[in-house]
Amino acid sequence: MPKKKIANPRAWITGLINDFLASSPTNDMANPPGEPAWDQALVGFVAGADPIWQQYKEYVGPFHWTPWEVYNQHQPGQPAPAEELSVISWVLPQREMVRLANRRAKKYPAEEWARIRIFGEKCNIALRNHVKDSLSKAGYPAVAPMLVPNWTIVNSQRFGYASSWSERHAAHAAGLGTFGLCDGLITAKGKAMRVGSVVVRMVIEPTPRPYADHHAYCSFFVDGSCGKCIDRCPARAITTAGHDKEKCRQHLVASRDYVAKTYNFTGYGCGLCQVGVPCESGIPVKAAREALERGELPPPPAPLA
Ligand code: SF4
Ligand code: SF4
Repeated sequence: MPKKKIANPRAWITGLINDFLASSPTNDMANPPGEPAWDQALVGFVAGADPIWQQYKEYVGPFHWTPWEVYNQHQPGQPAPAEELSVISWVLPQREMVRLANRRAKKYPAEEWARIRIFGEKCNIALRNHVKDSLSKAGYPAVAPMLVPNWTIVNSQRFGYASSWSERHAAHAAGLGTFGLCDGLITAKGKAMRVGSVVVRMVIEPTPRPYADHHAYCSFFVDGSCGKCIDRCPARAITTAGHDKEKCRQHLVASRDYVAKTYNFTGYGCGLCQVGVPCESGIPVKAAREALERGELPPPPAPLA
């Protein structure tokens, strides 16, 4: 297929994503007022040959795909070297009314939050397909790693449950955020959000990664303060040692009954650690936030006592 000439791929793809959110009927909470699930996305780009992908593989486990692996598994007729690939990552920040509703939750999610977990994620799946298909039609073959049939969750010895592709790690690689004590990704629009990504055979100028440390936006790791997500977790799954994924998973399983009985739809969710905390809708570390605004790296974290 002849390639469409795209003068500014970053702007074109960002427009593709935000136009979809503005116009797609899938962007819907499936509630009577027919409210949208999402406003606008933050979008970042990272090279397929960036060394961070190999670092993930070594750190998380060999099952964690690089962009080259997932692309070439699913585009076998058009193999491409890592240098010709890019990863597009987007963050869908939770809308204010959804965050406010879930702030009031004490054990199980607010209806709005549970709706986003199901219907907002349906929109996110449609968005992945839309980005992949639009790029492919323009002559740039693409793969959405979360939608390929062999995407799987593995019980890793080192990390407990981990997957063959992590949207949050892709977003971190694309300069969109760093990890918090609860494992959530803290972005310029906060930690209450969902993420998506697509791997494409296109060379796109990467977004600068404005941090040298993968915890640079979490106050607990920067100066030992905060820890508010510990108190928000109804399952006691967060401690100063981090996030217990198994306790969290069990709480999510238990939420299914609550959502079905209370809200009358099939769903689940929690996200209490993502709201009512200083990183809910922004970066709580002042120096890092200001450095990001200036386009600089934040100062290194102080050693923890
Ligand atoms: S609530 Fe505080 S400790 Fe928890 S992730 Fe956010 S900044 Fe870090
Ligand atoms: S999602 Fe819920 S159960 Fe899991 S860590 Fe956050 S608050 Fe705890």
